[in-house]
Amino acid sequence: MHPDMKPLIDAALADGVITDKERSILHKKALALGVDVDELDMILDGKLHQMKQAEQPSAPEPKAKAAKPDNSTCSACGAAPSPHSLICDYCGTQVAEIASPEDELAAVEQLSAAAQKVAETRPAFNFDGLLYANHEASKEVRVATFWQNCYLPNTLPAASKLLLQIISQINTVPGTAHIDGQPIARANAIYLPRIRAILAGITMNASGDDMPKLMLLKEEVERAERGAAHAADMAKKKMILMWVGTGIFCFVVFGGIGGLFNCS
Ligand SMILES: [Zn+2]
Repeated sequence: MHPDMKPLIDAALADGVITDKERSILHKKALALGVDVDELDMILDGKLHQMKQAEQPSAPEPKAKAAKPDNSTCSACGAAPSPHSLICDYCGTQVAEIASPEDELAAVEQLSAAAQKVAETRPAFNFDGLLYANHEASKEVRVATFWQNCYLPNTLPAASKLLLQIISQINTVPGTAHIDGQPIARANAIYLPRIRAILAGITMNASGDDMPKLMLLKEEVERAERGAAHAADMAKKKMILMWVGTGIFCFVVFGGIGGLFNCS
């Protein structure tokens, strides 16, 4: 190909298509330079074909993240986390390098999604060994155990996001936190020390500028604690009322029957 043709061909191909006008200009130039027009067309069509091929996504490209450390098995629970996940979907443990504040936020997002999955999937017991460590049957305790053992971020934005996420799990509806030993009460008993510990960690790492945010977080933690206590208290009162009610009912009914027998 004549060297003077190349810049023209490149210019015509720059937008990925060759219009009739562009092609006729190229033909004229080719004739002027003594280049075979058929050969020129062949080159043009070949180049267009190449460009189209390059546009189409061929085989899925290996992601840059594939170079990260092997996270195919969680060291804490032995489950296989989702590919490219920073945390284990089953127990919340960190399974890949979390290097930046953005990674930390992404990890907290992944924890939320994983906790949802933990709530929805009742773990199967298999006799070759547990599918994963957190095989508690009640959903509330399973999710609470997940948040109890999960990865903790270091930076304030991610740590406070995680803290608020855990606070939102705490049951504060009056009368629904059942008496001791029941799932909701057990879950709350896991959450409350956890949020205290996370708040303490955040406070330790915080700088003076973080104080306003810290105060808000502290208020949220205290509100959740009061809510959980109130919910448990109301549940106990409800139980006591039920027993007293049952007692009075029995007294009236059986007392009445007794009275009938006494009269006869
Ligand atoms: Zn795990």
